[in-house]
Amino acid sequence: MIQTQGGTWQRRFGDSLMGSLSTPTVMLSHGEGCHVHDVDGKRYLDFLGGIAVNALGHAHPVLVDALATQAAALIHVSNYFASAPQIELAERLKRITGAGERGRVYFGNSGAEANEAAFKLARLNRGDGSKTRILALQNSFHGRTMGSLALTGKPALREPFEPMVAGVEHIETTIAALEAAFDDRVAALFVEPIKGEAGVLDLPEGFLEKARELTSRHGALLVLDEIQTGVGRTGSWFAFQQFDIVPDAITVAKGIAGGVPIGALVTFGETSDLFEAGQHGSTFGGNPLATAAANAVLGEIEASDLILNAVARGDQLREAIAAIGSPLIGEIRGRGLLIGLGLTQPVAAELNARALEAGLIINAPNDSSIRLAPPLIVGESEIDEFITLFSSVLKGLA
Ligand SMILES: *Cc1c(COP(=O)(O)O)cnc(C)c1O
Repeated sequence: MIQTQGGTWQRRFGDSLMGSLSTPTVMLSHGEGCHVHDVDGKRYLDFLGGIAVNALGHAHPVLVDALATQAAALIHVSNYFASAPQIELAERLKRITGAGERGRVYFGNSGAEANEAAFKLARLNRGDGSKTRILALQNSFHGRTMGSLALTGKPALREPFEPMVAGVEHIETTIAALEAAFDDRVAALFVEPIKGEAGVLDLPEGFLEKARELTSRHGALLVLDEIQTGVGRTGSWFAFQQFDIVPDAITVAKGIAGGVPIGALVTFGETSDLFEAGQHGSTFGGNPLATAAANAVLGEIEASDLILNAVARGDQLREAIAAIGSPLIGEIRGRGLLIGLGLTQPVAAELNARALEAGLIINAPNDSSIRLAPPLIVGESEIDEFITLFSSVLKGLA
């Protein structure tokens, strides 16, 4: 075990890690299921799951075994060679997205890279050459690399790195703004079905349907960023499947391989024909280790009915949070096991810190929102444990 020596690791972190990261207050050593342990032996209930990443929780035997087995066979082969787990995962993604026969899959290594691929896809949708506009939403989050940052609707994240990649316009998340923005020069519209980083904000009623109607009418691609909402978390494989629409492309990452880095762009219909050989690629993208991990995670979600669990545990969690009756909680947002709590006072950071102190990992994406994204394997008793911890933390603050 690594000795903490009164915060020595924090000094080492600050002295060696890039200043783009702030120094954490806790160092974790191991976990199992929905719990993690720090290097001082304290146990935490993990209701953040590595920000919607640890779909199977920690040290799940199915994922551990798949990784060990694949690592002993082939970890990496380069894109000059095919591997069975890669083809299997692409076929699986075509099936669970409903992209079907015409669907195609590109693999990268992160959410940002999946969105970079989608950005390039949008550039290939040129029409007669006049399609240079890309629409995205204010307050959206699509990643930190230059293309995905250009799509991100948070000026404070973009400004230090301007000039941005050209052509992206951020519109308000209203049907009126959508209608006002569209013309035939729009190449693509990027939308998160639920804005996770913004505090788990649901889209207005009818927004996705209107987005589909306008993109179709103007020959623009509807690209859904399902990086946080995907892989069963919101109660269906992908959140868009709860709406009456089919997108042209979706991006996937976070939970898909339970913490092993991987991202994917999945295209639907004729959008699958846009990329030509040699136009995009990644050294690590879709390597056997990462794709074997994703196959194990997606296989386990299916085998153990974890999407149904996300619905049932999500309902239980919502009801139990409402039943606490805390005056601090103004609204409960999101779907399934992606939950946002809108606070009536800007005390999210304080609440988050007190929860951590009490042995509960949650997240404060902004001043007045708490985000919960527990592993999809979370059980009834862990929801009870959460409510006990969380209600006492809320009481301490009220
Ligand atoms: C996390 C996230 C990203 C970026 O993913 P990275 O793996 O951090 O690059 C993009 N879009 C959404 C909606 C996300 O939640």
